[in-house]
Amino acid sequence: MLSDHPHLLLSSEGLHPIITKYLNQHILKPVAAPLRSCTRNTCSLPAFMCLVLSDFSCVVVFDHRVFANRSLTLENIKCYGFDMDYTMAMYKSPDYESLGFELIRDRMVSVGYPHELLRYTYDPSFPTRGLVIDTTYGNLLKVDSNGNILVCSHGFCFLKGEDINNYYPNKFIQRDDTDRFYILNTLFNLSETYLYTCLVDFFTRCTRYTNLLKGFQHGDLLMSYRSMFQDVRDAMDFIHDTGTLKERTIKNLDKYVIKDSNLPVLLTRLKVVAKVFLATNSDYSYTKAIMKYLLENNAKPGSPKQSWRSFFDLIVVDTRKPLFFGEGTVLRQVDTDTGKLRIGTYTGDLQHGTVYSGGSSDIICDLLDVKGKDILYVGDHIFGDILKSKKRQGWKTFLVVPELNIELKVWDQKKNKSLFEELKRLDVFLAEIYKHLDSGSSECPDIDAVQTRMKVLTYRMDMSYGQMGSLLRSGARQTLFASQLMRYADLYSSTCMNLLHYPFNYLFMAPPVLVSSHPYILCPMKRCLKTRLTLPQSSLSPTILSR
Ligand SMILES: [Mg+2]
Repeated sequence: MLSDHPHLLLSSEGLHPIITKYLNQHILKPVAAPLRSCTRNTCSLPAFMCLVLSDFSCVVVFDHRVFANRSLTLENIKCYGFDMDYTMAMYKSPDYESLGFELIRDRMVSVGYPHELLRYTYDPSFPTRGLVIDTTYGNLLKVDSNGNILVCSHGFCFLKGEDINNYYPNKFIQRDDTDRFYILNTLFNLSETYLYTCLVDFFTRCTRYTNLLKGFQHGDLLMSYRSMFQDVRDAMDFIHDTGTLKERTIKNLDKYVIKDSNLPVLLTRLKVVAKVFLATNSDYSYTKAIMKYLLENNAKPGSPKQSWRSFFDLIVVDTRKPLFFGEGTVLRQVDTDTGKLRIGTYTGDLQHGTVYSGGSSDIICDLLDVKGKDILYVGDHIFGDILKSKKRQGWKTFLVVPELNIELKVWDQKKNKSLFEELKRLDVFLAEIYKHLDSGSSECPDIDAVQTRMKVLTYRMDMSYGQMGSLLRSGARQTLFASQLMRYADLYSSTCMNLLHYPFNYLFMAPPVLVSSHPYILCPMKRCLKTRLTLPQSSLSPTILSR
């Protein structure tokens, strides 16, 4: 009945009879318009129903949902592994990124960069994850999975078609050229992305410097975009390696770390049904400070107090992912009293309560006596956590994408829905124009106006997300980040806490998709209705829900 399912409310208008029957029998009774707002998740619904329902005037809150790219049965998972930073320990945005930005900026000034840089402050509306820095020309790029450029900025100046062509004749980059193109994979990268943009902006506008193609000249001093990038990277490494960022974080945990009282609940429940391990690149003392804050000082009233270490079967710090998923490093024991590493390689059996340093994913499997396919690994780093564990070890993967909440909220706004509806109408309009033409036709329809309108609509949609647009798309085209997410993450959600909303025998079903949800991307001007795939697609977001 409806009262039992306040999270899903429907208009009875337009519902297919089979769906209505299903809802009446299994879920709830459809209600007459007007629609009502909803408050909870849709975890009680099979995934395919969520997809279908989204095409039928259904209002759904997705904040608590876990999305599936590939079907996965939680019942088969014998071991859950967790990353710490930005996975178990969610940092408060934008305060944490602002802190990182200020520390790097100050470091740059202290090594000789102009004091005017201190005027810049962090703007969270600018950077998104997954952008690419071109260290040769100093540009910030948003690209698709093949390296086609979707957005290009030089400092804070967004370049248009011709200007982009001047730099990149095919509007394309060889993104495998990792020596030149640096992909900003993690949320830690947001602050350095913004700082690099500030640098390019400052030197481009500063009259003391002469603009060159690959950098700036000041007297006999040449400053290349490449050397500036290296300086930013070095500053970033400096604040991490010297522990400056960690120190400031630990001093003010309430300001920078989200404390969720459900985390101990999730870990306790998981440990009943499976083994649980923590594998973090952070060192022992920082891990201890964060996990104590999240687990020991965070118990619900009445629950017994327990050590943070007791929530895990195995704890590994200093993992050096992605190296950890390959050859790894020497496995050592950590002296939990002093925090120092014991000398020599640890070769014994798993000791509960012991903390290890280094090692590799193979060693983890041996110590826990589990196979790779039995592990669901939860992390936020698309490359270091997800891609490597999937490609090199065959682990099941769960990507944490905190940006998903905002992405879905923006998408769900009325104005964006109407923009997307218009995009779809134009899509159908184009298909109609070409419907009766074939390779023997000489007619050449004028579609310039439609193309222009589609570009305007795409731009307006992008701007709703921030200056660089959506993390996942640019109009109908998927970003590099989205394509990697779909390829390597079996499951994904805005937070690992959403596992709480599913029973541990749950079957995550990936909807059937024939090759691609956007076959027309490959041939945008030839979209015939008669050849179009007719598999059900979500009207909410093809990128997010169609796999
Ligand atoms: Mg992380």
